[in-house]
Amino acid sequence: MVATAEAKFSAPKIRQTNMLINGKWVESRSGKRFKTINPVNETVIAEVAEGDPADVDAAVKAARAAFESGPWSKMDARDRGRLMNKLADLMEANLDELAALESLDNGKPISDARAADLPLSIDCIRYYAGWADKLTGDTIPIRGNYFCYTRREPVGVVGQIIPWNFPLLMAAWKWGPALAAGCTIIMKPAEQTPLTCLRLAELAQEAGIPDGVINVIPGFGATGAAMVKHPGIDKIAFTGHYETAQKIMVDASTTLKRLTFELGGKSPNVVFADADLDAAVAGAEFGLFFNQGQCCCAGSRLFVEQSVHDKFVDKMLTSAKARRLGDPFDPNTTQGPQVDSDQFNKIMSYIDKGKSEGAKCLTGGSRFGNKGYFIEPTIFTGVTDEMAIAKDEIFGPVMSILPFQGMDEIITRANSTHYGLAAAVWTKDVQKAHRFAASVRAGTVWVNCYDVFDAAAPFGGFKMSGMGRELGAAALANYTESKTVTMSLG
Ligand code: ADP
Repeated sequence: MVATAEAKFSAPKIRQTNMLINGKWVESRSGKRFKTINPVNETVIAEVAEGDPADVDAAVKAARAAFESGPWSKMDARDRGRLMNKLADLMEANLDELAALESLDNGKPISDARAADLPLSIDCIRYYAGWADKLTGDTIPIRGNYFCYTRREPVGVVGQIIPWNFPLLMAAWKWGPALAAGCTIIMKPAEQTPLTCLRLAELAQEAGIPDGVINVIPGFGATGAAMVKHPGIDKIAFTGHYETAQKIMVDASTTLKRLTFELGGKSPNVVFADADLDAAVAGAEFGLFFNQGQCCCAGSRLFVEQSVHDKFVDKMLTSAKARRLGDPFDPNTTQGPQVDSDQFNKIMSYIDKGKSEGAKCLTGGSRFGNKGYFIEPTIFTGVTDEMAIAKDEIFGPVMSILPFQGMDEIITRANSTHYGLAAAVWTKDVQKAHRFAASVRAGTVWVNCYDVFDAAAPFGGFKMSGMGRELGAAALANYTESKTVTMSLG
């Protein structure tokens, strides 16, 4: 690991720390605020208004009015698309500021924010802007003298609850299909990283998206729970931990809200002996260490075929040791701190468990520096499927390398998890690639690549990794209801 020191980008001004309800930036009704912390040096960046049920209620009223009588549901779909494109233009025009704000609040390297989070977020809003006027129904031949057709109508007021690992991108993934479908929104950003969502909402106002269409209520789990319980919200879209999704399902049961979930994973990344090993090493490094390991689809079970295991491990070690930890504002940094002290402590406890359960820590395994939540890139070998580090989602820079022999064994082991978000396979043999892709129980399979995302390609989980799909045409189904109209032809 190499420390980096030189900062080239500077921290942006914090413009907005209030909540957005009905087009007005207001304090919370309780006056409560919470601190968002800089994970690099543990200092307070800003104090942000914290939403209570009363604030959620006000936001629901605004979103309901904007949906039912306001301009949003009445506006021509093409005009909605035009406003969304304007928002994408403004995001592009403010890319430097948004990337710096994301890096400051989350700790991610600014080079990643600029190369990944921002372009993907902008692309997502543009992609769904194009969908706004293309939500068509069907004409259906039925028995008798009738004309039968379906309409796709917006689901209504939607509550969107997002995590802290890709704060802006998660907002874009949620706003895009909801706005295109004609829904109105109450969003709760994660308590660790509210700042880019607030700025994005300012840009949405500047783009001309009408008051009440997007409301943002920062806060903790209790604020999210108030949204889930509120009878005026028709649907909850949630990204986060599966245990939180379980609570949301219970809380949503009284009002039978529509639910979509994008949850965690323990994704198998499988390297066959015939693979291009250098490409597989680079893909494995990216697939696990990218975003400090804080990715729901992280390739955290790295299976390597026995005959190339030792060679692969040597290469992987060299690659992990070359990672550059340090100030996220230094463009040469490839790894920043973990997002907060809770995540830091959780990851460190998994590293301890790995050691005590008998895995071999080849590199890393300790805190990096003495300030901030930095953790050295860590590689374990000698990992067995039963160890906690091979079963649980760690959400940090901790790689477990497990040897395997042959296709049948790897398919069974890859599927031996209650997760099913993503998987990858590295091989030059097309038959192996297709057989693996068809057999693994996961929502996304990458072949000879990792973490390739596109706004047009659906993403989501099998099993306990989620319900429904985000991105692509698939996500529009989350935000529309189908209405069947049958007319007598006399
Ligand atoms: P993570 O472990 O990634 O922080 P969480 O599932 O705890 O994942 O948090 C993801 C989002 O869900 C955050 O915005 C958080 O505030 C919110 N949240 C936490 N608990 C609840 C809850 N009971 N109901 C609704 N939202 C919640």
